Amino acid sequence: MHSRVCILGSTGSIGCSSLDVISRNSERYSASILTAHSNYQKMFEQCKRFSPELVVMVCDKSAKMLTQLLNDAELEIPVVAGIEQLNNIDFAEHCEVVIAAIVGAAGLLPTLAAVKAGLKILLANKESLVMSGDLFMQQVKQSNACLLPVDSEHNAIFQSLPAESHSKAGWSGVKKVLLTGSGGPFLKEPLSELVTKTPDQACAHPNWEMGRKISVDSATMMNKGLELIEACYLFNLSLQQIQIVVHPQSIIHSMVSYDDGSVISQMGNPDMRTPIAHCLAWPERIDAGVEPLDFFNLKPLEFEEPDFERFPCLLLAIKAIETGASAPCILNAANEIAVAAFLAERIKFTQIAEVIKITLERSNFENLDNIDAILRVDGQARSLAETVIGEIS
Ligand code: NAD
Ligand code: MG
Repeated sequence: MHSRVCILGSTGSIGCSSLDVISRNSERYSASILTAHSNYQKMFEQCKRFSPELVVMVCDKSAKMLTQLLNDAELEIPVVAGIEQLNNIDFAEHCEVVIAAIVGAAGLLPTLAAVKAGLKILLANKESLVMSGDLFMQQVKQSNACLLPVDSEHNAIFQSLPAESHSKAGWSGVKKVLLTGSGGPFLKEPLSELVTKTPDQACAHPNWEMGRKISVDSATMMNKGLELIEACYLFNLSLQQIQIVVHPQSIIHSMVSYDDGSVISQMGNPDMRTPIAHCLAWPERIDAGVEPLDFFNLKPLEFEEPDFERFPCLLLAIKAIETGASAPCILNAANEIAVAAFLAERIKFTQIAEVIKITLERSNFENLDNIDAILRVDGQARSLAETVIGEIS
């Protein structure tokens, strides 16, 4: 059966990898809706290649530029502009699958709208789940959406958990989920050097090529913290059921340890096309364009415990999920603001954790059971984090 796919955030790293997998499997998939913030040149290239039914650009000016390019090329592809348009896409009319690949909180409303449409949702945008946790998962249940994890670790956990119990609550026979993370580019740097690290150094990840926000999150290991929260919600696990394992080579993408001593892992070259292809075709398998592992030429696989002195953001994320209520939402908002400030060279690398810590200390926590409350708490945490940056920078 042919599936039409919407890619929210098609011009990003995950978006481009998704289009690559679609192009290798064009008899099964087509790209029907593409969305982006402002990169109209890349969107124009994607339009020429994939002829979508609809394009959404958040930035008005970029939408106009794109329309001009499409007119000149005599391509009739409707382009709409603005956040309202992004948040109100008629998914059911245009697609059967939605890949949620916008970065950050901007992905929350369009991703939730896709969930409400009851479609197959491939989730890369972990921030939306961290912000809205229980509400997101309730919505998935209510609308009978099929939610599949693109994040490589969660995809690995999904593949390593017993297939027959995916729909049940609780995992019988599972001792621990082992969530692996590379430790990023600064795993072996002297601690005293971290304060000097530049945005480009933080974004130079040893194994993965990703957008700049998630690259910085990997350098602070906040990415693993967000993923810990993501795993709790996605698989209905408690914090105690998950162990973070630093594995610098990113060959094992996560594991599940069972009561009988078995440990099941998913392995592969670090390339996001593997989890994307896995989700697209699940439970079948398709070509992702990724070479299988060459075991005779692999570097030795190493494992270590996370060091919270080096990675204070990880500890902040653990505390946030322990606190529960609105703490993960506040953590995420403060992190987005702090990372943007670091990328703009307004604060030092080591101040990212400081901004998040102080923002959390100054916040009150409340239960978040509706979208307006989530957006309000997110907005308040953002302005609080900006205030903290103003004080410390
Ligand atoms: P990216 O920065 O490369 O791309 C982000 C996409 O979102 C772009 O298409 C951009 O136009 C769009 N976008 C950005 N701001 C927007 C806004 N305000 N409104 C609407 N659209 C906006 O990011 P990425 O690396 O592809 O990551 C995307 C998501 O996937 C993130 O949530 C990230 O955590 C997650 N993820 C990424 C990887 C990876 O390897 N890149 C792996 C796992 C999970
Ligand atoms: Mg990941």
